[in-house]
Formats: sequence, structure tokens, C-alpha cells
Amino acid sequence: MEKYLSQLNEAQYAPTVQKDGPMIIIAGAGSGKTRVLTYRIAYLMNQGVDAFNILALTFTNKAAKEMKGRIAEIVGASEAKNLWMGTFHSVFAKILRFEGHHLGYPSNFTIYDTQDSQKLMGSIIREMGLDKDLYKTKQVYSRISSYKNSLITVKAYFNNPELMEADAMARRPRMGEIYQAYVERCFKAGAMDFDDLLLRTNELLTRFPSVLAQYQDKFRYILVDEYQDTNHSQYLIVRALADRFQNICVVGDDAQSIYAFRGANISNILNFQKDYEDVKMYRLEQNYRSTKNIVGAANSVIEHNQTKLDKIVWTANVEGPKVQVHRSLTDGDEGRFVASAIWETKMTDHVPNSDFAILYRTNSQSRAMEEALRKRNIPYRIYGGLSFYQRKEIKDVTAYLRLILNPSDEEALKRVINYPARGIGQTTIDRLMVAANESGKTIFELLENIDSANININTGTKNKLKDFVTLIKSYQVMNQTANAFDLAEYVTKTSGLIKEFNKDNTPEGVTRLENVEELLNGIKDFVEGQMEIADSKDNLAEFLEDIALATDLDGDKGDPDHVALMTIHSSKGLEFSNVFIVGLEEDLFPSAMSMNTRSELEEERRLFYVALTRAEKKAYLTYALSRYRWGKLVDSEPSRFIEEIDDQFLDIITPIEERRINPMLSADIFGDTPPNKVRFKKPVQPKFKKKDKAKPVNFEISAPKKLKKASEIKAPAEANLFGGELTVGNRVKHLKFGRGEVLSIEGKGGDVKAEIDFEFGGKKKLLLRFAKLELI
Ligand code: ATP
Ligand code: MG
Repeated sequence: MEKYLSQLNEAQYAPTVQKDGPMIIIAGAGSGKTRVLTYRIAYLMNQGVDAFNILALTFTNKAAKEMKGRIAEIVGASEAKNLWMGTFHSVFAKILRFEGHHLGYPSNFTIYDTQDSQKLMGSIIREMGLDKDLYKTKQVYSRISSYKNSLITVKAYFNNPELMEADAMARRPRMGEIYQAYVERCFKAGAMDFDDLLLRTNELLTRFPSVLAQYQDKFRYILVDEYQDTNHSQYLIVRALADRFQNICVVGDDAQSIYAFRGANISNILNFQKDYEDVKMYRLEQNYRSTKNIVGAANSVIEHNQTKLDKIVWTANVEGPKVQVHRSLTDGDEGRFVASAIWETKMTDHVPNSDFAILYRTNSQSRAMEEALRKRNIPYRIYGGLSFYQRKEIKDVTAYLRLILNPSDEEALKRVINYPARGIGQTTIDRLMVAANESGKTIFELLENIDSANININTGTKNKLKDFVTLIKSYQVMNQTANAFDLAEYVTKTSGLIKEFNKDNTPEGVTRLENVEELLNGIKDFVEGQMEIADSKDNLAEFLEDIALATDLDGDKGDPDHVALMTIHSSKGLEFSNVFIVGLEEDLFPSAMSMNTRSELEEERRLFYVALTRAEKKAYLTYALSRYRWGKLVDSEPSRFIEEIDDQFLDIITPIEERRINPMLSADIFGDTPPNKVRFKKPVQPKFKKKDKAKPVNFEISAPKKLKKASEIKAPAEANLFGGELTVGNRVKHLKFGRGEVLSIEGKGGDVKAEIDFEFGGKKKLLLRFAKLELI
């Protein structure tokens, strides 16, 4: 047997070596799904399948790169290079370069990123004179995006009274017109947005059977990772391409489906068996990633979902430390706790920064984390924010490059026609846009014949416009012979961009220049990489395509040894030794926007499952009692997800702040390190383990006199007990809010809440289980 095949267990081996036919692997997190896909590709190649005939679709470009790297180790780099491997978007962008002409697109079409698309929508909303509070650009964008991903074209939209009515009900009766204008403007600009890459591929494969046949014949073996998160549009593409040979292998985990809000459809998994004949179904049950405690905790929480396939996940890995739960007073404290825990682990275990990840529900939570990490001089990187290529200065440079390739690109043109300033005012640009819309010509076409165009622009301005056209045309001439790097360098110098950036001496200005330099370096690398491949004249086009589709997750810039900060959505498929899941509070995680229906809540729970299963050795769950949200300090309650984890996998550690407050612990005042000796169970009742050497210090206000053994304690029972003890009219004391009177009590089991009127902070509804109240 080949050596790499021996690195698979029996359950993994079977699907890896099943060469032909449709198959689906449904398995839990960390069970080796991605490994099976990777090895399967190597196996197919060893069996004589040509790399050119294999299509593998991954969730990120980074995942594709890693898979390719591993395959290259097995079959050799030169063969691995020929694989068609990447995200749906990048693979089909390439195909559309070849075939887009069938649909009327130029082969050098531009890819509009989200920023470009939203800008265009914003201008359409403005031009139509609509109320921008009703027609919020982002909302309009996501609505149109969801039409596209459900393959609802403009025509289909106007044939669908229900859709139109839904938009009218949402007080956006003119959505259809915006959609239509947007699609027309993109088409005229020779541009596709992200959703077009899928929608147009579908259109291509449906309308042109010969093209479909050609690609069916090409992609004899198709593999899809993270299949649970494919949307309808992606699903149809895969189904069409796989229809002829039916050599399709998809892997996924229904428990990790987290993109329903973007149109991913879990029924794609459930229907797979109906779509193909003789589908082989495989299951993998052994998790290789995480400790027993992490696997146990994750299993116990996902149990709470009603909609799920029956699946077993177990591990032979060590038991490891329990999942730690940590409470802070504020988000700032939470950040300090995380930073000091990282710092301490680094000191004691001598591990690199890259062993740590901080995962959160929303991007805005990164701020407190960053601040605390900076104070401790711990290097970190935020993933999933603006990608490098979306920064202003980078977009300025690439807008010139885009315009050289595709002068119809309206967003690029608007960006640079008067940047750096060359005396072309907004009124002129507005007039040009109106004229372009009326005449059906592009702005650039109008500019080329500005003398004969019937637009109210004075001669001085006309000359400036002509100069601009001449400038772009001179670049186009240069592009015929020069390589992308020489051209880009020349453009930054002669367009006045560098001079413009040089004017700004602030640190931000300096960074901007450095970024442009970094971009040029990137182009140089790219050009040199391309030179190895013969016959690649079009390297500027390819470079622009790569960067349009680059996400921040893909970049490998800077020092690789950093703590990773990212949203949970971005963390899918990844793994880290130590994972902090922060902001585990009701209304934040689960998000307030996702608690209206069971299915929304279940998606939040799957998100939590994804987060927890990223951890290999140690997971921390943290929450704050109050946090700044929308500029206000808001009180918060611990997330129900903490409560849902089986107690035996959890360890509640004493909050630092409370140790500071407690004079009995004054010796710890100096230490900013996470306390790892004094441990508490869920706040109402302390849990002490025999193995704890330090004598437990009891500052739990409501701690019962007789301590129970850990195994005797079950959270809901506690809450019942305490809920039973408390009645309306009781006077209580709270650590933070002081004295108060119980106004009402509601809820059952673990959810008993009391409304209390406190001396500090007024009326509050608290979950008794976590409230730490003392009767007075
Ligand atoms: P996710 O659901 O998070 O995407 P996955 O099912 O794709 O996870 P992989 O990422 O393929 O799982 O594997 C998880 C980890 O376990 C990886 O580090 C992988 O290298 C390792 N692994 C998988 N199978 C084996 C095996 N048979 N022996 C040793 N290690 C393995
Ligand atoms: Mg995976």
C-alpha cells in the first residue's frame, strides 16, 4: 500500500479508494473529511486520472492551496499544478474568462467586489431619487444577492408577484427597478459581481449545451468540501457538471451548516441521495483534532438541536483540560483575561502565538481584544476584516489597472477620473453619467469623442478629460508589451498617485505608501511565478482576478507567528491548539437577530459547535456582565450555550476582577495572570475538585454551606432550588448592583429569572443561575 494511504483509518480508507461513482461523506468536525478529499485526489492521480480532469471545490482559496501542497508532496508539484482546485468563485471566474463571450461579456471582464457593487447600488439609489433610509445600500445589496443566488433573474423577478409584494411590504416597492438598473449597469461596464460568477455560470451551462458537454467531459471527477454550505446556485452547477460521469464526491457536516443566512441550503446534503444513482454513503466517526473534553462538550451542545442527522463523534485523544468558562465584569476585562491567559500559556508551555485563536460572533468585538493584546505586546492579526486589496490606496492603484484592461469599468473610472485631482468636478462626472445612461454608451466611449458629444461641459474641462483619455490609452499601449509589474510601477508614478500619497506625512500616510509598495511586490512575485508557465501573456488580467477574489483569510502577509482573531464564520475548517470563544452572552451569541425562530437559533448553535470544534487542546468560553454596544454600556447575561454544555466537561474559573474586589484574595492583586488554582463551578454553587491543591476560597455570596461533589451538581436543579428559595418581596444583595427587592419571578428549570429593583442600576431581570444573589 502507498505510504500516504496508511495514514488513514479504515473508515477513511474506504471512500478514499472508491474510484468511481457518486458518494457522500457525512461526518462530524475533525474526523478527517478534508483529509479524505485530499488523499482521494492523490489516489485518483496515482490511478492514472489526469489532473486536468479533476475539479475540487473548497471553501477558501487558502484551503485549496493547502490541499494542493499536500497533494504535491504525494504526486509531485508539476502534476499537482494542473488540478482545477479552488473556491467556486475562483474556478468559475476562470471558466467565464474563456466562455463569457457566449453571454456577451468581454474576456477581460472586471470582477466587482462587494465595495464596488455597493457603490454602484448607492449611485443607482441616488439617481432614482429614492429615500436612502428606506433603501439602505447594504440591505438592497444583500436582497439582490439573494435573488441571484436563488437564480431569480430580473425577468423572473418581474414575473413573480409574491416577491414584488414582499419587497413592497418591506417598504421597498422599487427593488425590482434597482435590480434591473444594477444588472444593466454591470453588464455595460463589462463587470460581474461575486454572485454573477455563479449565476452566469449557471446561465452558460443551461443555455449552451455544447459548452456544458465540454466541461462535463473535462471534469470527470468532481470533489466538494464543506458541501453543507453550498447555495442553490452552486448546487446546480455541481449537479450539471457531474451529470454525465457521476463521479462526484461531496463531504460535509450538517452540524456545521452556518451559511443559511446567505442562502446555503442544508437540503443539498439531504437530497444528494436522490440526485444520483447508487450513492455510496460513508460516515467517519473518529475525531483526530480535539481532546475528549472538547469533543464531549461540543457533542453535548449540538444535542440540543432538533434538526440534525444522527451522528457519532468520539475521539481516542487524551482527555485534556476541561473547557474553561470565564466571567468578566466588562468587555475590557474580558480582553485582559484573554490576553493574560495567552501570555501565561506562552510562558509556561513555550508555545508560539500562532497556537492561539480568538473567535467572536461579530467583527466589532475584536476591538477590546486588540487593545489587551497590544498592551501585552502579543502580535496578532485580524482576519476577515477589509482584505489588503480592499484598502483605499490599493483600490486606487488597481482601479487604474482595471481601467487599462477594461475601459468600460464604470466603478474604476469614477474612482480615478479625478484622483489625483485633475480639475474634473463632480458636476462634470454626473453629467457624463447621465449622458452615458441615456445614450447606452459607456463613459469612456463618451470621453473618447467628447468633442462631438452633446454634453454641457466647457472647453477647459473637455481638455482635461481628453488628457485623461490619452493617459489611459498610453497605458494600454504599454500593456501590449510590458509585464504587469513594469506597467503597475509606471502607472503609480505617472498617474500622480505616488506623489499624492507622498503629500501625507502622517503615520497613516506612510503606511499607505508601504502598502502600495507591498502591492507592487505582490505583482512582481506574481509575474515571476507566471514566467514559469509558458504562454501567459495575460498576467495583469489574472492578477486582478486573483486579488478580486482574495479574501483576507488567504493572505500570508507579515510575520506568521501571530494570534489569530476572526469571526466564527471565517474559522470553518481551521484548527488551533487553544481557542477562546468570547462574548458568549445572550443577544450577542446567540445573536439578538437570530432568536426569532427555532431554525435561526439552531443555526447559531451550529455556529457555536463550529467554534468549539476548532480547538485541539484547550477551549475557553468567556462572557462579560456588561459591554459597550452601539456606544452604550449594556448589561448582559451568559449565553444559553454555556448552560447547554454538559457540566462534566466544564470548569468555571474565578474571575480576576472579583478576586481583586475580595480582600481575602488580596495576595492576588498583583497578579494579572489568569487564576488557575481557585476554581468555581457555575456561579451559584462552587465546585471544588479534590485535586485542587489550593484551599478554595469561598466568596460566593450565595454559596451553600455544605458543598456538593461535582458529580452531584446539575445546573437546572440548582436553579430550581434557588428559584424555589426566592420569593417576591425578598431583599437580596448583588455583587455589582448592590441591594434590591425582588419584584417578580418567572421561568422554569435553568431559566428562572427574577426582576429585581436594585439600588444601583434600577430594575434588572437576572437569570438566577448566574446572578449570585445573597438573601438579606
Ligand atoms: P472539519 O469538519 O472541521 O472541516 P474535517 O473532518 O475536515 O474537519 P480534517 O481537517 O481533515 O477534519 O482533520 C482534522 C485533523 O485530524 C487534521 O489535523 C488531520 O490532519 C487529522 N487527521 C485526520 N485523519 C487522521 C488520521 N487517520 N490519523 C491522524 N490524523 C488524522
Ligand atoms: Mg474540513
